[in-house]
Amino acid sequence: MKAARGSLLGIEHLKAEEISGLLGLARKMNPRKARPLLRGKRVLLLFYEASTRTRSSFEVAAQSLGAATTLVLSSGSSIEKGESLLDTAYTLRAVGADLIVVRHPNAGAPALMAAHLDIPVINAGDGMHEHPSQALLDAYTILRHKKTLKNLQVAIIGDIYHSRVARSAIHLLSKFGAKIALCGPSEFLPEVAATLAPGLRITRTAEDAVHGADVVMVLRVQKERLAGEKISLENYMSRYQMTLPRLRLAKKDALLMHPGPIIRGLELTWEVADCSQSMIVEEVHNGVPVRMAILAKALGKAS
Ligand code: ASP
Repeated sequence: MKAARGSLLGIEHLKAEEISGLLGLARKMNPRKARPLLRGKRVLLLFYEASTRTRSSFEVAAQSLGAATTLVLSSGSSIEKGESLLDTAYTLRAVGADLIVVRHPNAGAPALMAAHLDIPVINAGDGMHEHPSQALLDAYTILRHKKTLKNLQVAIIGDIYHSRVARSAIHLLSKFGAKIALCGPSEFLPEVAATLAPGLRITRTAEDAVHGADVVMVLRVQKERLAGEKISLENYMSRYQMTLPRLRLAKKDALLMHPGPIIRGLELTWEVADCSQSMIVEEVHNGVPVRMAILAKALGKAS
């Protein structure tokens, strides 16, 4: 499917050089020092699903670059009256959008919009498919603490099946030669996940996944995507919850990451969320310059 120029729909089809280019551009971005690269541009934020970090940081990023932003939420808009995704997209284009950031519960919704619009579309999370800006900000965060992604031992633990964050992270990290272990019960990690990228290792034991890791990425149980599947949370927590003793099996300087929102006491303990290795707040902080880079690049203002 063709896509409007400048669109960012996923990590899977990006080249490593394009990713490095975006990360390099993000390093030059400073949200506190206004650079009106996007003055006169209108960024429409179209959210069909709940969001705190992604939505606010795309908004702050756009405004830091001098763009005007308008937020449209599915609740309270004509989407509730039954307007289709494409009709909503054409409407926002007609209002004067120069770029649309969209989050949608269905995989492929941003790609569909990008195929029908003449302005860039940025995927802010589509169903269980991809969350490219999260993968980019996670790579940016890791590279602030580690020299390279090559041969880095990364453990991704939890509800991988329902996680667009995991999918984008796997694509990105494997393009740069990280050694990835995926860990979770079969409901959250079917064997077929091993085919997402070359060299992935699947393990059912948190201790095994974390052992010797440089990065431990913990994921939320995506209850909203369980679709009637029943899992025993108690059993899950006893085997996969990130606790301090489990985290201590990783390298001493391992980074603890989580895309948020965190559910303290479920996928990780309070102590782990607040420990000195936790990158959870830093990831959010880094989301702003990374999203500034994404917007500037999409609108052809990368310099
Ligand atoms: N915030 C992330 C997402 O939108 C992760 C999560 O919700 O657990 O996919």
